[in-house]
Amino acid sequence: MKTSHEFSDFIYWAMFFLIPGILAGYTLFKASPRLLMIYLGVAALCFVLLYYRFFCTKCPHYHNSEGGCKCMFIWGLPKVFKPSNEPYRPYELLLAIGGILIIVAFPVYWLLAYPILLVVYLLAFVVFGLTMLRYECPHCIHSNCPSRMNYVQRIEIEG
Ligand code: SF4
Repeated sequence: MKTSHEFSDFIYWAMFFLIPGILAGYTLFKASPRLLMIYLGVAALCFVLLYYRFFCTKCPHYHNSEGGCKCMFIWGLPKVFKPSNEPYRPYELLLAIGGILIIVAFPVYWLLAYPILLVVYLLAFVVFGLTMLRYECPHCIHSNCPSRMNYVQRIEIEG
């Protein structure tokens, strides 16, 4: 089990997210620099107020790290929200997932003007999901995470 993440894990995923991030940033900037600024603001708010607030606060990596939240996706962000060990309520998952969907979906309209960039943008998220399911979820200590729970149930069923 992976009880903590190294800074190198964070760097790996940060570089990975630069791929869709640069594609989205380039496309939005070409449309309008102001649009890019709006997107960065919306993405930051969605990440912190929805995902960080409703999902990360129940994650052991959030609970255990000192000097700010430290995990493979976040490094040093202050732990401004109260940690919780409660299972996720449906509305919390909806808000957390909704926040991420807004971040991912926002640039898609402008990426339609560059089909090849759109394909790479979407492919990056497919690869991200598959990599998480194959290499991260099986070793994750976040037992309340729905993806981790699905994995454990599958193992129990398959023996
Ligand atoms: S591992 Fe995921 S849920 Fe846990 S603190 Fe990091 S980003 Fe949040």
